[in-house]
Amino acid sequence: MQYVKTADSYLLRLDPGEEIVAAITGFANDRRIDSGVVSGLGSVHHAVLGYFDRPGNEYLRRTVEPDCEIVSLLGNIALKDGSPFAHVHVTLGTRDFQALAGHLFEGIVAATCELLVRALPGMVQRRKDAASGLWLLDL
Ligand code: ZN
Repeated sequence: MQYVKTADSYLLRLDPGEEIVAAITGFANDRRIDSGVVSGLGSVHHAVLGYFDRPGNEYLRRTVEPDCEIVSLLGNIALKDGSPFAHVHVTLGTRDFQALAGHLFEGIVAATCELLVRALPGMVQRRKDAASGLWLLDL
């Protein structure tokens, strides 16, 4: 990973083989970013996408192995059990120009991944919601 700081934001370049969610989480931990937003693009392989099935109260998972474009990556950073947690969603573009999208559990960088991480002032925490089992923003 390479990065530069610009005011309250960081521009990151992840290298092939890096895992995106772990990289964002580790970066936030290292920089003590307790609250923030993330956006990005690039390409990925071995992505694990999630879809939250409300009736079943669980994530359905799909692993996507071929290289895909990261058309859009959006996320936020908040504290979960005292440590920065990155909540990330992506839209992926396939070789035949179809789109796949969902919650990003993990994704390995293929060619590159370019991220903008903006630190927000203060801290935001997540708390587990009893009804859904999800860790919701505690605002
Ligand atoms: Zn999600």
